[in-house]
Amino acid sequence: MHVVFVAAEMVPFSKAGGLADVVGSLSAALVRARHKVTVVLPLVAGIDPEAFSLARRLLPVEVALGGKTHRIEIFEGRLASGVEVRVLRNEEMFERDAIYTDDADEPLRWGLLCKAALFLLAHDGEAVDVVHSHDWHTALIPYYLAHGVVSSPNLEAAASILTIHNLHHQGVFGSEMIDPLELDRSRFVPEGFEFYGKLNVLKAGLVTADGVTTVSPAYAREILEPEMGVGLDGVLRALPEGVAGILNGVDVDVWDPSTDMRLEARYDASDLSGKAACKRSLQEDLGLPERERTPLVGLIARLVPQKGVDLLLSIAPRLLRSDVQLAVLGTGDQGLESGLERLASRYPDKVAFHKVFEERLSHRFYAGCDLLAMPSRFEPCGLSQLIAMRYGTVPVVRHTGGLADTVVDLDRDLETGNGFVFGRIDAVELLGALLRGLASYSSEQEWTGLVRRLLGTDVSWDRSARRYLALYQARGGATRAAP
Ligand code: ADP
Repeated sequence: MHVVFVAAEMVPFSKAGGLADVVGSLSAALVRARHKVTVVLPLVAGIDPEAFSLARRLLPVEVALGGKTHRIEIFEGRLASGVEVRVLRNEEMFERDAIYTDDADEPLRWGLLCKAALFLLAHDGEAVDVVHSHDWHTALIPYYLAHGVVSSPNLEAAASILTIHNLHHQGVFGSEMIDPLELDRSRFVPEGFEFYGKLNVLKAGLVTADGVTTVSPAYAREILEPEMGVGLDGVLRALPEGVAGILNGVDVDVWDPSTDMRLEARYDASDLSGKAACKRSLQEDLGLPERERTPLVGLIARLVPQKGVDLLLSIAPRLLRSDVQLAVLGTGDQGLESGLERLASRYPDKVAFHKVFEERLSHRFYAGCDLLAMPSRFEPCGLSQLIAMRYGTVPVVRHTGGLADTVVDLDRDLETGNGFVFGRIDAVELLGALLRGLASYSSEQEWTGLVRRLLGTDVSWDRSARRYLALYQARGGATRAAP
């Protein structure tokens, strides 16, 4: 099959969160399964085409949208994984301070990516079997395909798949955006893209895509209920093919403690001394006392209400009565950032807060910490807990979405489980789970067994990539595949 991903972000080019990891690693997994994969993404600020040896096509393309003609330069290349990439450059529209903005033309920025991507595919002379879009930013792809906004023989048999990575981001705008985005006004109805009197871009994609997926089986069930459906549960329930929940995997080549050169030392299940060295070196970096037997709890996340950082803040004084250290890596809401800053200055020997988004440092955190706190209010899949497991770092999570699918509460008697799980969105329950983690840590033998068990967990894409391929086929994506 020839599968095309269109997405806002992709590792190694750009990253704001887990979406970039998924686009980078799932595409590579599909290539490993011997399919052709092309990823189309925007050239956002910070991507240097030269650094990735991307070649600029001689001729730019011109794409009309919103009453304007946009000149798009195309950079192309091929990653070591074999994934083909097309990076679309339009400085005015794509290169802003951040990948996502609150600018008035935000819907046009992503509408342009969708239309330009289809335009490129339409003229590239190669048939496409599946166009797989990710989140609301590229949800107009299935809509544009279904409505023939861009059409070409290359795209005629293409199945459109839309994956929801986070239902809280839907792209809801005033109805004045309908015409600029070239949407059909007659579809501004509840069965179409109308949403309480507004335009909902994600909904436009959901009701026109050939297949809709999300990133874990539990989240696929949760979002069908009003409590977690963010206003779209009825739309999702009504989808003829339903919502498939396919668990994310991790790029196990990038995230591998036995080869990771960003770490102080490397390690695996047979020899954990490297992990101890990573912890020492992280403590040193963070200015925390280098104490080998003091459990180090990490939190690596976008600092937003979703991640439950406020729960951790509210019980931190009680947690810190124990012999424990806390290391936080993240940026986000100002209130949460300043709460963490206050905590770090009140407990300089116990709490360190690094207010940055830095890939390299995140590797050192995953390896150096003993536990990873992830008290999310909701979590479509969550990659941090999977990466933590891969580094032998024990997750402490709330039972929701992908966390519920991947973390099983430790049963000390049965020696089963791979983390510490709590149920309700409740700070005291989080405290309980963390304290159980600390109690388990205090038994060196029990803890080592747990860490070894985690290091043996399969968090790769293998199984889930096969599920995507089966779905592509079921939705007609392989009709043109060679016999
Ligand atoms: P989300 O997509 O909601 O942000 P995930 O757990 O699915 O959550 O993915 C988060 C990704 O972003 C992980 O790869 C994680 O390591 C990374 N990440 C989060 N915060 C930071 C940070 N401050 N610096 C570097 N990487 C980060």
